[in-house]
Amino acid sequence: MSTDPACIFCQIISGDSPASIFYQDDLAVAFHDIRPVAPVHILIVPRRHIPSVNNLAEADEPLIGHLFTIARHLAREQRVDQTGYRLILNTGPDSGQAVFHLHLHLIGGRRMRFPMG
Ligand code: AMP
Ligand code: ZN
Repeated sequence: MSTDPACIFCQIISGDSPASIFYQDDLAVAFHDIRPVAPVHILIVPRRHIPSVNNLAEADEPLIGHLFTIARHLAREQRVDQTGYRLILNTGPDSGQAVFHLHLHLIGGRRMRFPMG
């Protein structure tokens, strides 16, 4: 399935739901998280509806690499590349994944603790 009409991120990608999108290309879209946990909190999502890492295939390796390339560029653009940032990709119930359209969180701009709760 390449798109799911019931999926909030698919709706954002198609323009049917609002979001502050500030990067997009043929493969991916990046927009602000609606409930930011830090001064920089961006979600980087593939255009294709992929529910989670569990649904990836080997053929998706370039796509996943591309998400990291976008994260690297955006971290620099947002000026957190030197102060540091966290990339989070939640998968499944124990991780707290709430939206089942694969997304990479780019979080930075404040000091973070590790490990998390
Ligand atoms: P996760 O727990 O990894 O599935 O994270 C889902 C993230 O999506 C949360 O940080 C939410 O704040 C964010 N989110 C949910 N709905 C929207 C939306 N309509 N626009 C932007 N971010 C959203
Ligand atoms: Zn989707």
